[in-house]
Amino acid sequence: MSDKVADEKQAHEEPIEDVVEPREIPLGKRVLLIFAHPDDMEFGCGGTAARWADEGCEICLCVVTDGSSGSDDPGMTPEKLAETRKSEQLAANKILGISHLVNLDRPDGMVVPDLDLRRDLVRVIRQFQTEVIVCQDPSVYFYGNQYINHPDHRAVATAAIEALFPAAGNRNYFPELLEEGLEPIKIQEVYISNSREPDVWVDTSSTIDRKIEALRQHKSQMGDWDPGPMLRKWSAEDGAKRTPPVDYAEDFRYMKIEG
Ligand SMILES: [Zn+2]
Repeated sequence: MSDKVADEKQAHEEPIEDVVEPREIPLGKRVLLIFAHPDDMEFGCGGTAARWADEGCEICLCVVTDGSSGSDDPGMTPEKLAETRKSEQLAANKILGISHLVNLDRPDGMVVPDLDLRRDLVRVIRQFQTEVIVCQDPSVYFYGNQYINHPDHRAVATAAIEALFPAAGNRNYFPELLEEGLEPIKIQEVYISNSREPDVWVDTSSTIDRKIEALRQHKSQMGDWDPGPMLRKWSAEDGAKRTPPVDYAEDFRYMKIEG
């Protein structure tokens, strides 16, 4: 066995210690939220986004799809629905204090985590010069035995993770972005929403009302359904898991990226 192979073998056998203390408020002040569909962000981190905006963070939401498949109404066209959903998202962002919106307009339901999407996300990361990213969980296929995770959620989450490391911070990835004047930036922190392995619970007791109000702006999706009671129930369950417990919370898997 060569020294190099021995070193790599040892590196793999040594346990990676969890030395990072998950942070309820990020270290960075510019936060980019990357989600697949209009309204995904509100379900996953709407209360947290509003809380961080209150704490002085500048927040950008990147919605990857146009949301054009989100209706069974035969009288609704995909084009009309896409426009409706953009205005619904803007109204929701205003309530939460999210000041920037980027729509990548991928066809709803058709997302694959290819290099084009990775490049588009690196472009958004470098344009906004963010230090913190919130995205969905690329590893989840199933929630319990009743819900299959939407393939767009996994695809967008995969592309987001592959964009933020190492491509966003390395100038040799996508040199065409340098020609656009976009300098690399290393992401410091990642918050994974809807993870099966949460380790941080953000107290959203002061923002739960705004989260619900933001979700109500997505009228094309909510119809007559009031999301309030269910969101309060879910957020209360998460609040009870926090130490110390709070009335309402949202949970995340937290990563502090080294290097
Ligand atoms: Zn979705």
